[in-house]
Amino acid sequence: MSDRLEVFMFPCLSDNYGFLIHDPIEGLTATIDTPEVPVIEEALNQKGWALTHIINTHHHYDHAGGNLELKKKTNCKIIGPLADKDRIPGIDITIEHGEKFNFGSFDVQAFHTPGHTTGHMVYHFKSQNIAFVGDTIFVMGCGRLFEGTPEQMLKSLDLIMSWPDETLLYCAHEYTQSNAEFAITVDGKNKDLIKRKSEVESMREGSIPTVPTTLDLEKKTNPFLRSDDQEIRLELGMLESTRTEVFAEIRNRKDQF
Ligand code: ZN
Ligand code: FE
Repeated sequence: MSDRLEVFMFPCLSDNYGFLIHDPIEGLTATIDTPEVPVIEEALNQKGWALTHIINTHHHYDHAGGNLELKKKTNCKIIGPLADKDRIPGIDITIEHGEKFNFGSFDVQAFHTPGHTTGHMVYHFKSQNIAFVGDTIFVMGCGRLFEGTPEQMLKSLDLIMSWPDETLLYCAHEYTQSNAEFAITVDGKNKDLIKRKSEVESMREGSIPTVPTTLDLEKKTNPFLRSDDQEIRLELGMLESTRTEVFAEIRNRKDQF
């Protein structure tokens, strides 16, 4: 028995990660999102865990597409953002911004992080220094703004930045290598970034996941968290611009990269 939340991570689809979380005390198991049912089932079998919950970050197919099949097979309960109650298949329990709930013996706090989608939520297990951030923040990147504005996304990222530096961020995609290649184009003098880029390149050569990351590392190397950085501003010719303007420009460049 352990008083730690157990996390089991595995690749799904072409570049998603699946996550199972397990409370050994109460015997609960949740999947964070449902990217690929057979792979999630295989992970459950491998660990010998029975699925009791699905916790969704947002409605996209690579996150909620397996909800109904898994619910049908396991009778699990589906937890997701209230704002997306009409878009998340099979949702049972709706959660609002800032709401705290228990996953077995662990406290979770949910935060609404609009930007990638209007309903997106992230889940912070504060006592465990762990967060599941879906498609809001990636290693050296952030989610595309499919539904939200730069202003909303920056606010969402600021919320994540308010957590402790050692927080482990479980991002839902392995986009790291292309994110690093882009990051260097706007923050090329950043020594931490240069070092990390070569680290992640060798990790990916060996098919090693670059997720989870830490907030501390992201603050140093993720250009989307660095819209107040003078070197980036100089590179963009935006010394006098607002953080939102700088963030929007970086996002725009990444979309065209
Ligand atoms: Zn998405
Ligand atoms: Fe996704």
